[in-house]
Amino acid sequence: MSQDHIDRLLRPDIAALEAYTPILPVDVLARRLGLPASKIVKLDANENPYGCSLRVQEALASFDRYHLYPDPNQGALREALAHYTGAPPDRILPGAGSDELIDLLIMAFVSPGDEVIICPPTFGMYKTRTEVFGGRVVSVPRAAGFAIDPEAIAAAVTPRTKLIFLASPNNPTGNPVSRQHIVRLLGLGPIVVVDEAYFEFYGQTVVPLVSEFDHLVVLRTFSKWAGLAGLRLGYGIFPAGIIKHLWKIKQPYNVNVAAQVAALATLEDRAAVEATLRRIKTERGRLYRQLRKLLLLQPYDSEANFLLCKVRLGEAKALKEALEAQGIFIRHYSSPDLRDYVRISVGRPEDTDALLAALLTYTARALPASADPAR
Ligand SMILES: *Cc1c(COP(=O)(O)O)cnc(C)c1O
Repeated sequence: MSQDHIDRLLRPDIAALEAYTPILPVDVLARRLGLPASKIVKLDANENPYGCSLRVQEALASFDRYHLYPDPNQGALREALAHYTGAPPDRILPGAGSDELIDLLIMAFVSPGDEVIICPPTFGMYKTRTEVFGGRVVSVPRAAGFAIDPEAIAAAVTPRTKLIFLASPNNPTGNPVSRQHIVRLLGLGPIVVVDEAYFEFYGQTVVPLVSEFDHLVVLRTFSKWAGLAGLRLGYGIFPAGIIKHLWKIKQPYNVNVAAQVAALATLEDRAAVEATLRRIKTERGRLYRQLRKLLLLQPYDSEANFLLCKVRLGEAKALKEALEAQGIFIRHYSSPDLRDYVRISVGRPEDTDALLAALLTYTARALPASADPAR
């Protein structure tokens, strides 16, 4: 069969989609550079560099029922998450990463041609997944300082608007959405999805509001704070009228057994993971202050575990590639609104040191010899 034949059978909207560029795993990156994996400084995916605790590793190692299907009702996990979040267990739905919950929401609410509002620059999955399901993305750019613009969002709402996605703190800008803005958007009608992937670094949540509004959803994940990105576990807190429909469409075994074991152990061993959160937050402050001393980058305030930085010397993409050649990975985006920016995840102190040394060398090379670095 020819490609033409396949393309005629394919959904036209899928044929027109651009390919997604995923982040490469450390061993692949290391092999490509001829470095040992331990020499790679990975600051490109907002992972917790300390990993999960010893108790979590032990729980995974000693569990002896990996040959049995997971609990499709996720009972124990939902109970533990209820205790952690303060929301009732029957309002909590775990998923294979919060990415899966984004999918379930779009599947449940967005028919082809329906609209989803996003506020770029923001997490790329909202747009990608909306388009995969045939929805129309309506972009309402952020105002100065990356705050959302509620009045512009209100003006963009049409009878076909089903969902409004907001990350708080936002990826990649690091700033939260104010509670006042969220309440304003709840007055508009579409379902408001507040993605709190970085809640544990910020400390403020709108989870208590979910019981007051029947069209507010909060998403969370174990990927960023809990060191479990590789196991894929997220969850959502939903109003009763929404969660009952998601139960009908989720795959019965969407959350794997290892993820459930690791999440339960994490929630029983919170002191250990919280110690790593404190280290990351302290390091975020140091990284911010050190970057501000360089001419090269202008970091923005962040309530998450990464810093968005404007590149003030040369091209952001060139900087990303120069660091990559030394085994230091940061994130650069191809979208026009972020062309001059990079996002740097907060790592361990030694990761910061390696990054700063490489940035100093890069600055010295990028600056014309005659320029006065003090200016
Ligand atoms: C990383 C991230 C996610 C994805 O989390 P997973 O649980 O790993 O799927 C969702 N939302 C935002 C804003 C993120 O930055």
